Amino acid sequence: MKHGEHVRRVLSEEIVESCKFLNSSGLCFGASGNISVRYHDSILISPSGRAYSTMSPTDVVEIDQNGLYADDRKPSSEWRLHTSIYKNFKSAMAVVHTHSPYAVALACQRRPIPAFHYMVAIAGGNSIRCAQYATFGSEELSQYMLQALIDRSACLLANHGVVVYGRDLNEAIWRAGEVEMLARQYLLSENGGQPVLLTDKQMDEVFVAFADYKKK
Ligand SMILES: [Zn+2]
Repeated sequence: MKHGEHVRRVLSEEIVESCKFLNSSGLCFGASGNISVRYHDSILISPSGRAYSTMSPTDVVEIDQNGLYADDRKPSSEWRLHTSIYKNFKSAMAVVHTHSPYAVALACQRRPIPAFHYMVAIAGGNSIRCAQYATFGSEELSQYMLQALIDRSACLLANHGVVVYGRDLNEAIWRAGEVEMLARQYLLSENGGQPVLLTDKQMDEVFVAFADYKKK
């Protein structure tokens, strides 16, 4: 096996393992949600309509930045979310999209996740925004998502789900899990009252502490 083929095979295996983790962790169910990684000038992405439980590395599809593919398998119908992120954010090496339940519950109310907890900072700012609604798979939805991702590495999609990116697949999967946990905690904290939000100054201190923590 040539080196390039080997790298592609390893990345495809990681995508399949990560898809199965999304199911086992409750972040996704059945074939909802999708995962991609940047691969040279193209993208490796989970296939369309394939249950994660039966997915194998050969089902992973290679697409170019315009969604074109040579394989006989079709890429996820939501490939535009992925290509838009790779085109616009140079640091993005992996993208994870889920319909995780608590985040969807908030997204259906078209609400962002505010700074109710300092971990909101893991998306890069004082809130995790909710992008405007558009039909799944559409170019319009990608445009709304990009607006919600300005200075952020995660956002909600109205009446739909969550999109995150990371510097590698591990980071993207971790971030998708954190966003779901934050959505869950936020909804819980609203039981019996409104959570007290952190101020911009308090969040600035969190960003400084995070930067220090990374250095250690
Ligand atoms: Zn979706």
